[in-house]
Amino acid sequence: MSNKFKVLLVDLTQKKASIQYFDRKNNWLGGSGLAAGLFAQFADFKADPFDPCQPLILAIGPLTGYFPMMSKTVLGFLSPYHGQYAETHAGGRSALSLRFTGYDAIVIKGRASQLSCLAISSKNIELIPTPYLHKLDVFRTGKLLRKIFPEHSGHRSILRIGPAGENLANFALINVDTYRHFGRLGSGAIMGAKNLKGIVLAGDGRLPLEPTQTREYTAIYDEIFRIITRTRAVHKYHDLGTAQNLIPLNELQALPWRNLQETTDPKVQNISGETFAEKLLLRQTACAHCPVGCIHIGLLREKFGPEHEFLYRQVAYDYEPIFAVGSMLGMTQENHVLTLLEDVERVGLDVISTGVALAWATEALQKGVITLKQTLVPLKFGELAPYRQAISHLAFKKNDFYAHLAQGTLKAAQKFGGEDFACVLGQEMAGYATGEAYFVSQALGFRHSHLDSGAYSFDQKENSKNISRAINFMLDQERYRCLLNSMVGCLFGRKAYSVENICKALNSLGYSFTKEQLEEIAQNIQASRWALKIKTGFNPDQVKIPKRYLEVKNWKGKIDADFLYQLKKAYAQEIKKLGQNPG
Ligand code: SF4
Repeated sequence: MSNKFKVLLVDLTQKKASIQYFDRKNNWLGGSGLAAGLFAQFADFKADPFDPCQPLILAIGPLTGYFPMMSKTVLGFLSPYHGQYAETHAGGRSALSLRFTGYDAIVIKGRASQLSCLAISSKNIELIPTPYLHKLDVFRTGKLLRKIFPEHSGHRSILRIGPAGENLANFALINVDTYRHFGRLGSGAIMGAKNLKGIVLAGDGRLPLEPTQTREYTAIYDEIFRIITRTRAVHKYHDLGTAQNLIPLNELQALPWRNLQETTDPKVQNISGETFAEKLLLRQTACAHCPVGCIHIGLLREKFGPEHEFLYRQVAYDYEPIFAVGSMLGMTQENHVLTLLEDVERVGLDVISTGVALAWATEALQKGVITLKQTLVPLKFGELAPYRQAISHLAFKKNDFYAHLAQGTLKAAQKFGGEDFACVLGQEMAGYATGEAYFVSQALGFRHSHLDSGAYSFDQKENSKNISRAINFMLDQERYRCLLNSMVGCLFGRKAYSVENICKALNSLGYSFTKEQLEEIAQNIQASRWALKIKTGFNPDQVKIPKRYLEVKNWKGKIDADFLYQLKKAYAQEIKKLGQNPG
């Protein structure tokens, strides 16, 4: 264990790179804490997110490479979606490849003079002009990058953007190793603004094994591995995967359908995890160093000729993507959902934001708020063909309407009308109409993600309208997740990685923490992230929750507006308190 963070600084404008060492401050830990610390150091708080001076930061944690499910990389950036500090996480091979380059983090600033790819290994850093990749889709870009950088296959991670990122769509994502993503809040557009089509992390270095030659390491590794592989803790993620949530949420009347106009539909069976598994599932795969394998790959068979001519494609699916381009768009055929997932993937858009944006556009068209002249295609819930075209229009900003929609659903609704039914909670909603705690949690949460605190489970497990219980749940969960995200562990591994086990794992590698110290550090990271978000413009008092959410009726009855607003006010106060006292 080194007592310094080794950080690679890349300046694309100057075509220069350097290595800088930072003291291993406790409050940085790694991952989420490290990215926030580096952002505070390198960001320009007055400049626009697309300004070349803004950093794109990749960070891994102290357990990466040493423990299972420590398979994620944190990416910190100033989001073009809302102009605030944001974080997104991805797996694939990214974390292990970065570990094997020998860096704890990479900070990329500047703008390449032409469309380029950045290749980083333990020995070299190259910026290679790739103008011929201009506007190429994610799949073809991946294929070509594998040919351009043939070395270190299996130890190499390929990050790339599609046309949506190059066109600066505010919810363009970065595709990682084909089936994983740095999704949500527009990191793909930041790469586009830097003229960076791809980043190749060639993990060609070595991982020091000395720290693992102790009894303590073996004992805690075995214990964590036992929980992951020999108990039911993560079993569901491998079997049906998160797609198994479709039916239970539909039964609770908590699955958003047709732009959240309904919350249940008997046709859910057609797009359930069970149906996907029986009809489409080809295989499960995993991020590097994860024994779970929760990534479900479906086989898409597409007829392309008048006779019996078919194309076969492998498309990843999960609960959130099925909700976004399935139930939210009224799609009730599993292969149609897979087709839309493939279309969204190809252009490099975030699937949740895309589905929710198109659901709003569909209702707006039905209500006459916008016209066919604007949508160019007759969007209709349940109709595949218009959505396929609309996805491309959105990625390429085909006209003024799609250019506005690509900025975010609420921004489009503010311009064209229909704010009341824009399903936006800080960003386009995730698939949980579970109630007040979830709506407040996503609207105000740090990443505006269902994974900030998992408040949908508070709605489901607690039949309580106790404000302080709800707030404590959200803050405690968020604080614990700050710790796990600083390692950087997969959030599906929560049962294996209690604070005690994280503490034992760190100490087995030569660190020296108590559980109480880790809890304090997690709180400091939580506070410094809030401070950054507030410093970059977030005001929790100004967050609005659209009227559509007050109309939701689920298994508990109608949404309680008084409870929702009291909860929102109380959570906003806590956020401001935390943000004023960064660690
Ligand atoms: S559980 Fe799934 S997302 Fe998490 S690390 Fe494993 S394969 Fe990746």
